[in-house]
Amino acid sequence: MPASRSQMPGGPWLAKVAVGTLTAFCLAVAGFAADGSVAASPQPTVSAEPVTLAVAVPPSPVPTPVPPPPASSTAAPPPPAPPRAFTIAVTGDILTHSPVVRVAQASGATVGLPYDYRPMFADVAPLLSAADLAVCHLETPLSPDGQGLSYFPVFTVPREIADAVAWAGYDACSTASNHSVDGGAAGVTDTLDVLDAAGIPHAGMARSPDEGATPRLLDVNGVTVGHLSYTYGLNGFSLPADKPWLVDLIDADRILAEARAARAAGAEFVLVSVHWGEQYLTAPTEQQSALAHQLLAAPEVDLIAGHHAHVVQPVERIGDKWVAYGLGNFLSNQSGRCCAAGTQDGVIVRFTVAERDGRFVVAGARYEPTWVEPGTYRIVPVLAALADPATPPGLRAALEASRARTADAIGMLGAPATPAVAQFP
Ligand SMILES: [Zn+2]
Repeated sequence: MPASRSQMPGGPWLAKVAVGTLTAFCLAVAGFAADGSVAASPQPTVSAEPVTLAVAVPPSPVPTPVPPPPASSTAAPPPPAPPRAFTIAVTGDILTHSPVVRVAQASGATVGLPYDYRPMFADVAPLLSAADLAVCHLETPLSPDGQGLSYFPVFTVPREIADAVAWAGYDACSTASNHSVDGGAAGVTDTLDVLDAAGIPHAGMARSPDEGATPRLLDVNGVTVGHLSYTYGLNGFSLPADKPWLVDLIDADRILAEARAARAAGAEFVLVSVHWGEQYLTAPTEQQSALAHQLLAAPEVDLIAGHHAHVVQPVERIGDKWVAYGLGNFLSNQSGRCCAAGTQDGVIVRFTVAERDGRFVVAGARYEPTWVEPGTYRIVPVLAALADPATPPGLRAALEASRARTADAIGMLGAPATPAVAQFP
């Protein structure tokens, strides 16, 4: 956890969270202290390189006879190791349109930075930090030096968003999206260099054939998690013929092969991030549903987290596995003025993963709806804000509408399929 968080200038939402708006929420979410601070749960150590689980065995010494235990020994056998478990929080598109960037520029001017997005994440940072593994979706390429910036429809955005992502408590990001090559091959290299510098492991794009062929493995509470990321397309661009490894494109056989490779490299649980679906459509498309069922039917894939529709889509339980089809917009300038009312909605879905009979399975899911406040672009935790009596009526009405939209979307495939989702107050 970067120490700089405590030095952040807190906006009104941060103040509310700190003094107790979050109290009701905290009651339902393990890992938060009653004062709104993040409890000292173990933080993951995230490795940027594949983890090798093999342990070097020293040469055996000359065997020596082991005396039998004394007949009177009453030493009990060591207790079995407790089952391992962890939580994964996933969120949707981070899409910094030019109005968002202008606000970050104004915030930066107050703290001596070119851009500062941290206030936008301040209210959700405790929720993200509480997860053992928090995974973002970075939809756009990053400029390493503030040059060559561009926005809709072809994006290259300031690098400081990566610093805010790290500051907010994310442990990794998926990067395969339809905008992945908006900045060409150089944009891919720049983006991954910036993420590396920010300490954010990434999946979905590559700077070399070797990087493209190397599974991303993350050490989460001692469990090795493989993370893969794919996109349906590339904004009208295509991959250069000599660089097919730049971005991972959706292909079921390829995904399964790479999930197998991740397991062969040591992954005990595999998360697949997928950029797919129809924009502004809450219901998953037939292609989404078919791919989810195909991937989750295979032993190699454990969990799917999706994005791109810019509205929240359902969570579905398929067998004993789960898919979040679409997590909405986590940060963008979209709203009902341009797009659909639900484009200000996002969601943090947190899955609890537990070890059962030697394999890791999702034991339950919870979600926290979020909403991007116009003008400030602060990502508001909806339930916490609704629980705050100081929330003004106009804002309350917008948040209530957002909460209802998200609840409908998350549950639209039927409560029996998602029995553990609606556990937040
Ligand atoms: Zn997209």
